[in-house]
Amino acid sequence: MCKKATLTDLINTHVNEKIPVMADGTLLIKGVPRPEFYILHEHLELKKKLGSGAFGEVFVGSWKKSDAETLDVAVKKLKGMMHKKEKNEFVKEAKLMRRFDHKNVVKVYGVAPQEEPMMIILEFASGGSLQSKLQNTPDINNDRLLNYCKDGARGMCYLAGRQVIHRDIAARNCLLGKNDELKISDFGLSVADRSLVKLDKLKNMPVKWLSPETLSKGEFSQKSDVWSFGVLMWEIFTRCKTNPYPNDTNQEARIKIISGNHPLKAPEGTPVIAVKVMELCFIKETKDRPEFEGVLKLLSPSEKPPPKADNFETYAT
Ligand code: ADP
Repeated sequence: MCKKATLTDLINTHVNEKIPVMADGTLLIKGVPRPEFYILHEHLELKKKLGSGAFGEVFVGSWKKSDAETLDVAVKKLKGMMHKKEKNEFVKEAKLMRRFDHKNVVKVYGVAPQEEPMMIILEFASGGSLQSKLQNTPDINNDRLLNYCKDGARGMCYLAGRQVIHRDIAARNCLLGKNDELKISDFGLSVADRSLVKLDKLKNMPVKWLSPETLSKGEFSQKSDVWSFGVLMWEIFTRCKTNPYPNDTNQEARIKIISGNHPLKAPEGTPVIAVKVMELCFIKETKDRPEFEGVLKLLSPSEKPPPKADNFETYAT
């Protein structure tokens, strides 16, 4: 009988460490088999490039999970010359995402750290990004747009219940599954336990999606994610035709957002309930802004929110 690997064992496993492999291809982490997270390059086949992101290129491919099972997957290939710090960020993103299992959150299957380039293996969201779907499909009706909002609220409720602050909720970071269900993706900026960033670090962040308290004090929280969720809803109902505050530079938008006097207005024809939720997301005072449970309750009153995880560690091992 093998003992279970703990989170610390995993974290202590160095990114570039050569990991021993058992005869059936299972990787051994500190002598403990970890079939479910570390994946061998030879079990992956990359087929078509889907796009490029901050970490490198993304491909659709297949993963030979076992002799009997091959899965369609999305593979993120780590950029060639990456600093150790960036590599660690990459693995951190993967390890964080791996704990989650919800239909509205992109599933991470594992990482392939054995050879360069390192890869992260994700659930393949066959519908592509929400942004391109909205921009390229005419006549998406309000019911479908509302369904995207509900799916997003479900996914965010699940993540918030696991102490995750996403920090980059936006249409470009939402993907669609085979039944057109929205899946929250891109945890590159998520950190479960850090809620304050230095203001100069905000320079490279997406200003027009950020909350007043983030822009003025560098504060991130579930409530700042709720603000960004309001911006996502605005993108959904404007069908991603323009960026938010289309006539403003980032600096002008920043001043508007911090003042709290110029919230984004839902476009003509937006369902009343969506207008209401957006107004609540854009409340300047965080204490008066709802949490994701409240957002989901308004969008889908009869629905029970996904259960919270009290013991976060149990999700990590
Ligand atoms: P990064 O997080 O490195 O910035 P992205 O997540 O933005 O990279 O990925 C770039 C593109 O690849 C996206 O626009 C999307 O179209 C595609 N993509 C990423 N992940 C998936 C996935 N799991 N399923 C399908 N397509 C994906």
